[in-house]
Amino acid sequence: MTKVYNWQLGRDMDYPYEGAYPEQQFAFVFNINRCIACQSCTMSCKSTWTFSKGQEHMWWANVETKPYGGYPQWWDVKILKLLEDANPEGMSWDESTAGGEASPYGNYEGRTIFEAPPTSLFPDSSRVLGYLPSDEEWNSPNIYEDNPVGRKGEKGKYHPTGESLPVHNTWFFYLARICNHCTYPGCLAACPRKAIYKRPDDGIVLIDQEQCRGYRKCVEACPYKKAMYRGNTRVSEKCIGCYPRVEGKDPEGGGQAMETRCMAACIGQIRMQGLVKLEEDGAWAEDRMNPLYYLVHVAKVALPLYPQLGTQPNGYYIPPRWVPRPYLRQMFGPGVDRAIERYSHPDRELLAVLQLFRRDHRIIFRYEIEEGPEIYRTKLRGKPFTLYNDTVIAYGKNGEELFRTTVEEPLHVRSAPLQNSI
Ligand code: SF4
Ligand code: SF4
Ligand code: SF4
Repeated sequence: MTKVYNWQLGRDMDYPYEGAYPEQQFAFVFNINRCIACQSCTMSCKSTWTFSKGQEHMWWANVETKPYGGYPQWWDVKILKLLEDANPEGMSWDESTAGGEASPYGNYEGRTIFEAPPTSLFPDSSRVLGYLPSDEEWNSPNIYEDNPVGRKGEKGKYHPTGESLPVHNTWFFYLARICNHCTYPGCLAACPRKAIYKRPDDGIVLIDQEQCRGYRKCVEACPYKKAMYRGNTRVSEKCIGCYPRVEGKDPEGGGQAMETRCMAACIGQIRMQGLVKLEEDGAWAEDRMNPLYYLVHVAKVALPLYPQLGTQPNGYYIPPRWVPRPYLRQMFGPGVDRAIERYSHPDRELLAVLQLFRRDHRIIFRYEIEEGPEIYRTKLRGKPFTLYNDTVIAYGKNGEELFRTTVEEPLHVRSAPLQNSI
């Protein structure tokens, strides 16, 4: 094991290989508050990459209803239980060190999946804490859709007090997931064939189909269960980050770097994907006007999924406002309260950046804001709030303007003869 720095944990971490970092990293932000579980993302990936024989059970993109849903079933409950067992002294976060880019959420005090004692690894040949889901667990990708948590101990009963923010008593939410193209991938660490690699140009994690022999060590070791085994070819497969689009080779893009299929298809406009610049040591290089950099490192409204697992995932989530905080803190770490507070009382810049989601299929590398007039003043969740109609402008890889949009969205009113005409 060597030591690598995991900034999401605010500390050095054991990893089987030395850190190797791309120049820029594939990353994305999902705003859970907006997801409607339409599954357009899921189906766009399915119809592009996994429609063939032997791939029937594969959903590289999926959307599951939390807390009961999961694909494969119980994936997070199972890995969290294994992690808990590997941490008999407990796991906690020291938030006194939170702040700055090297430790934005504080210091994670506990073992990751790479630091579990050998006695907790099964089988003996494992290098990483994990497990192999059963065939049945892959069978029902959408199990428990829309099933809420109700009254404790009373099945099928809603909470009697009704629901109001800040936290609902009866709740669920939709968690959209793809491979996180992790900085320290569990799948890569576990592969005895060295068949898994991270592309130096964009950090997308791929399985070399020629090298793979189908040992399923990646399936076992990916804590997010995003490496999948294909029975008829006897090799493993995973999300490829739609790399031809990211490279600008999709004819639709006219040579421009394009967001992936699952991002482009998102009806709820919850998704933004891009490429962030990295320093030589793997830290995010300061890139103040990159929207992903802004959301993760400046506004800090977007948080990694289960950072305690240790893979330093490159997918970030704006947490749902209505969900009990202990559940969210376990899922997204200690930055949850600050992220929800900031999202609930957005400033001018955050409001403008949120308008960038899904206005275009091309990757946004930079944005600018042109200030507009005040539209109205009000009180928002108990605090004074002023809305300005600012214009946000998105730029592509070579500095060309991609589009511009305003904070106040245009309102289209159907003329009387066309109303109810569907
Ligand atoms: S999410 Fe899983 S499959 Fe994807 S890079 Fe991370 S460890 Fe590998
Ligand atoms: S990035 Fe591409 S390959 Fe990966 S889940 Fe989305 S659509 Fe599928
Ligand atoms: S397409 Fe967007 S809104 Fe629909 S389920 Fe997927 S992430 Fe959610």
